[in-house]
Amino acid sequence: MSIIYADNNATTQVAPEVVEAMLPFLTADYFNPSSMYEPARHTADAIKEAREAVARYFKLTDPNTILFTSCASESNNAAIFGAVKANPNRRHVITTAVEHPAILGVCKELEREGCDVTFLDVDAQGNLDIGEFVRALRHDTLLVTVMHANNETGVIFPIEQLSRLTKETDPAIIFHTDATQSVGKVPIDLRRELQYVDLLSFSGHKVHAPKGVGALYLKRGTRCRPFLIGGHQEEGRRAGTENVPYIVGLAKALQLADEGLNDENTRVLGLRDRLEKAIEEKVPYIEINGRGAPRLPNTLNVSCHCVEGESLLTQMDAHGICASSGSACTSGSLEPSHVLRAMKIPETAVQGSIRFSFSRYNTDADMDRIIEAFPEMVANVRRISPYWDQEKNAPRLG
Ligand code: PLP
Repeated sequence: MSIIYADNNATTQVAPEVVEAMLPFLTADYFNPSSMYEPARHTADAIKEAREAVARYFKLTDPNTILFTSCASESNNAAIFGAVKANPNRRHVITTAVEHPAILGVCKELEREGCDVTFLDVDAQGNLDIGEFVRALRHDTLLVTVMHANNETGVIFPIEQLSRLTKETDPAIIFHTDATQSVGKVPIDLRRELQYVDLLSFSGHKVHAPKGVGALYLKRGTRCRPFLIGGHQEEGRRAGTENVPYIVGLAKALQLADEGLNDENTRVLGLRDRLEKAIEEKVPYIEINGRGAPRLPNTLNVSCHCVEGESLLTQMDAHGICASSGSACTSGSLEPSHVLRAMKIPETAVQGSIRFSFSRYNTDADMDRIIEAFPEMVANVRRISPYWDQEKNAPRLG
């Protein structure tokens, strides 16, 4: 049985074109890009070209605003700790309650270090309240860090509006966004719409590059101290010998994403919408999480009342369907997702959430198989649920 991979917000298959672009730098071109001899110059050129390609993806004219890192978590740590270290006179940070742990964990650490952090709530659709956001900005706010798209629900926050409002209130406030889930899925123009963003993080393995490479956009003039200190790589802003093959792979992946951004995402959106409609028709008592908000084209988060998400995942696994019951980093624990909790998903549904996330490698046939199997699997899990009334085929009341 072939598998259906529907967990692309956790990680993605490496594109064959990316592997091909990386191979020379894993074999013959192994030189340290900082070395002074001719063969190493070719390796250094490869990084330069990769940096230019990444900058092009974001419509940037200055490639040196892109720093290569090892992952989005590192980029987030570098952005937040770097900004806090460079601005000791301000101690207030604004974020949201639904960020990835790679932001929430850092913000909790800031609290331990004496910063005051505001965690903004979301409504039942996963939207932020703009008025509440503006009221949270203070004279001592040093940083705003708000994700672009949510990894669990795909809900997209209005980063253009939030970053503009931040700068209109106080141009000294630094604006960071974790764009790990939006890169490759929606257009990101850091020269126009998102010109007020100072720092942006993302990761290669969510866009068909390998795990172990990411990047941080650092706008010129942004007060941010280096996070990894040591060698002079990345203009002294991130020490460590560059991971040349992976950097080349990341650039190739973004180039491929750019070429297919409209067509592929429209096709993937069609797959997602077809599945969403079919699940709604065939499975009673469900919630489509985040449906009332702008959403990524590839993500479908569905909560089934009176279902234990882990049991459903086990059944799906037996059918070769790979999906997730929460973000990859939190699955494995039975704690309900903090994102769905913040959205106040009904208590009987919050445990029964499944996230399907697709990519350009998914097909109509994948949807056929999920549509055929999923309703029966939900029914099976409900059959053994004490909260499900078998007679009425509905949740048990009281
Ligand atoms: N931020 C978001 C929104 C994510 O979805 C993830 C991974 O799931 C991360 C950060 C962490 O990415 P990485 O694994 O590259 O550190």
